[in-house]
Amino acid sequence: MPIQVLHSEVVSKIAAGEVIERPASVVKELVENCLDAGASQIGVEVRNGGTELIKVSDNGAGIPATEVELAFRRYATSKISNLGDLENICSLGFRGEALPSIAAVAEEEIVTKTSSEAAGTFVYVKNGDVVRREVRARPRGTTVTVRRLFHGFPARLKFLKSAATENSHIAHMLSQYSLAFPELRFSLVIDGRLSLSTPGDGDLRSVVNQLYGSQVAGAMLEVQGNHAFVESSGLTSPPSLNRANRNYLSFFANRRWVRSPLLIRAVEEGYHGLLMDGRHPIAIINVSLPPQEIDVNVHPAKAQVRFRHEQDIFLEVKNTIKQALAKAPVAAKHMPASATSWQQQSLHMIKEKEPSLIAPLPALGLPILRPIGQLANTYIVAEGDEGLYLIDQHAAHERILYERILAQWARREVEVQGLLEPETMELSPREEETLKDTQVALAQFGFALEAFGQRSHLIRAVPALIVGTNLVEAMRVLLDSLASKDIPAPWEEKVAKSLACHGAIKAGQQLSNEETRELIRQLERCDQPRSCPHGRPTLIHLSSRQLEREFGRTS
Ligand code: ADP
Ligand code: MG
Repeated sequence: MPIQVLHSEVVSKIAAGEVIERPASVVKELVENCLDAGASQIGVEVRNGGTELIKVSDNGAGIPATEVELAFRRYATSKISNLGDLENICSLGFRGEALPSIAAVAEEEIVTKTSSEAAGTFVYVKNGDVVRREVRARPRGTTVTVRRLFHGFPARLKFLKSAATENSHIAHMLSQYSLAFPELRFSLVIDGRLSLSTPGDGDLRSVVNQLYGSQVAGAMLEVQGNHAFVESSGLTSPPSLNRANRNYLSFFANRRWVRSPLLIRAVEEGYHGLLMDGRHPIAIINVSLPPQEIDVNVHPAKAQVRFRHEQDIFLEVKNTIKQALAKAPVAAKHMPASATSWQQQSLHMIKEKEPSLIAPLPALGLPILRPIGQLANTYIVAEGDEGLYLIDQHAAHERILYERILAQWARREVEVQGLLEPETMELSPREEETLKDTQVALAQFGFALEAFGQRSHLIRAVPALIVGTNLVEAMRVLLDSLASKDIPAPWEEKVAKSLACHGAIKAGQQLSNEETRELIRQLERCDQPRSCPHGRPTLIHLSSRQLEREFGRTS
């Protein structure tokens, strides 16, 4: 094929694809426009994961009647006008691409009015062209309605996940902006149901309360730091309050929601040594810096940024987090975490420094073991024909429970326990969407949850395995792990892993002789007794031969 310049229609579709990846991108662009327009109230409504309807309303400045059509032209913007402005971006938008990009992949209409006009303007855009224009009454502000998103694009539609997943992206997106702007009132209605509404009282904790519940809101620590040109502020969790994934890390640069591996690292290094492996803090951090210090023009979606002085920002955020944590009250319930790091350290010591001491385990199953005692309330010491064995009690119990619950599930016979007193749980909008997506599946494991008031749920029944533990925490970890795309495992394995981990005896827990014997007996019966469901070993082995060698008994 000879080289040719692409037709403008093709160009606009290509460009639209970069800005509008999924329904949540539409919401993001439209909400950013409301914020740039100085709105104090922003309402979002979606139907069917956003593919049927997305409607975003604000009470901001509005667009003058004479400029409405222009707003739908590519690279038409009121936010910058020259190259110099590009170096000093103070608005969220500046590329003039959102409205035309949306119009290229959906039907779009707008009703808008400025304060100096008597009436508003309605414009309907189809296939990128304005096909209707009317005078419409409305108070100051703008409402953009997007219908039939991607309907002419079967390939795009196919790549979208379920409506519940798209809703969860939308809820997450709006949650982020409500964290960035606590002084504004945000609301989100999904399929006719109010899913999020923030008070707009200017207090970040109020938003956290809405999203993550009152316990989290109450426990979060104040973050405030100032270093030369960068100021960081927000809230971060004490180490005892943590999550299984990074969904609870929110970063903003000059109140723009950004995805920044640099800021993630900075925060996590601030927690260095305070969190177990695989656990992450909850943090909401905004860094304010002069616009010249940050380049937001990296990608059309504007979620990635480049900092001019990366190292300074990194250190500032890390140190500010450390200072905030230094003020954390000492948690009384640190035992499992410290026991685990102790556990890992000692394993590490044996493995790294004295590699000759660890024998490869024979065959696949377990030898016959006779318990001798418990070490540090964490390991079971046992002997077998082949020498000495140390069993990690938590890992071993996790393995046992994991295989048990999966087997029960496969037979559709999960042991269920109804709760005499149901427990109440507040869900974040994101958790709620995950729950909706997985409730039927969770029921197969014995969970019975019932909606109860706004975003609260009653836990009425649970798998018997976790009775007696903190059920709300169990549920939260479970939803986290189901929402996480980090581990590509079948959902039932994720559930089983999460339940096994939660229900298993902990390191630091004293066991009676009878319990120790029972644990070993059950481990022996497992299909894969050598490792826990996360892949850590359940036991290590010192062979008789090695012991003889170490004690100089061999010739
Ligand atoms: P950008 O935000 O990059 O300027 P958009 O395509 O998102 O580009 O919007 C084009 C223009 O339309 C904006 O520059 C702004 O002037 C106007 N506009 C869009 N949405 C709103 C809104 N909600 N309120 C006021 N003006 C708006
Ligand atoms: Mg915009």
